[in-house]
Amino acid sequence: MTPNRLYSLFALLLLVPQVRVAVLKNIPNVTIEGFELWARPPATRPISYHIDAPAKVVPTKGGFTINREPFDYPHIQIGGQHDVIDVDGKKFPGMIEIRKMENGNLLILNELPLEDYLVGLVHGEISASWHPEVIKAQTVAARTYALRRQKQKSDNNTGLYDLESDTMDQVYVGSLNDVQDRIVKEAVDATTGEVLWNSGFYPAYFHSCCGGQTELASRVWGKKESSKSVIDPFCKNSHQRKWELRLTTRDFLNRLKHHGLEGSQIRNISIERYDNSPRNVMVILETDQSTLFLGATDLRRLLGYKELKSTWFDVDWSPRQVVFTGIGYGHGVGLCQWGAKAMAEAGKSYREILQFYYPKATLRKIY
Ligand SMILES: [Zn+2]
Repeated sequence: MTPNRLYSLFALLLLVPQVRVAVLKNIPNVTIEGFELWARPPATRPISYHIDAPAKVVPTKGGFTINREPFDYPHIQIGGQHDVIDVDGKKFPGMIEIRKMENGNLLILNELPLEDYLVGLVHGEISASWHPEVIKAQTVAARTYALRRQKQKSDNNTGLYDLESDTMDQVYVGSLNDVQDRIVKEAVDATTGEVLWNSGFYPAYFHSCCGGQTELASRVWGKKESSKSVIDPFCKNSHQRKWELRLTTRDFLNRLKHHGLEGSQIRNISIERYDNSPRNVMVILETDQSTLFLGATDLRRLLGYKELKSTWFDVDWSPRQVVFTGIGYGHGVGLCQWGAKAMAEAGKSYREILQFYYPKATLRKIY
């Protein structure tokens, strides 16, 4: 048993889970900085090699080179004496695992205790400068989300890791600096082991700003997951609430050309809304040559989630341009971060915030 495995077992006995997060993907090489670094190939009996920092890791046919020394193994772990390891300029607590992807490039995983992961997640999703009660609410939601993803992956026996580090799962940026880490850690510690529960880990989705009404999970992903749409008066003053996206007709048509829309002139754009929801379900695009029926969520994916910020929009067009005017930022399911921020500033506790956005879940302490 490797020390790493032993540590995992130790953590498990203390019921503090570890998570594995993909922090960098598909990169040709990576530079690791840290104090007293060691590299450890997979083996039943752990063998560690001291390596000089900075350590440049490059994939080769047989495995890797570290500072030009060959390590012919399928993956290697790198650790150090300090609390954080620097990977291409970003700091991560815990241990780094380097793997080769099928195309020969590198996949970098960060394995660390869940509670440490949550600190890096708050930095990525919201900010250490936000009210402590929002940070606590965000932490409980993210802890629940991570444990649920981990359980799904282990039940299906899929994947080398539990979570992505971008908006595909939850945004995780690692460690920032001592002051900001400490502020967040206090809020994380205050909720240690608390999760949202409803006959299992609750699907605790969250997003930036709902715009005034949250959405059902089934309307975004088609999955039959427990969720409830709530009217949210709290995010109405958020600067994220209103947005506009202007695209030239040519750019718009070009972006959809590979998805079944042909033609050079727009004849009509119509939208279909859900019942009892301000969000669009379908967008029907007609040009001089073809018609495309596209789910509004798919249109977000194709135009970019950061550009078409939500499916709550109206659309207008002229021969030259297409203009989307919309409300809210994100998929709209579960906790609204800007609404939660306003709730905390109005004196609501994290429990009240969670109760408001996840009325079907209860708070439970599992470790
Ligand atoms: Zn909201």
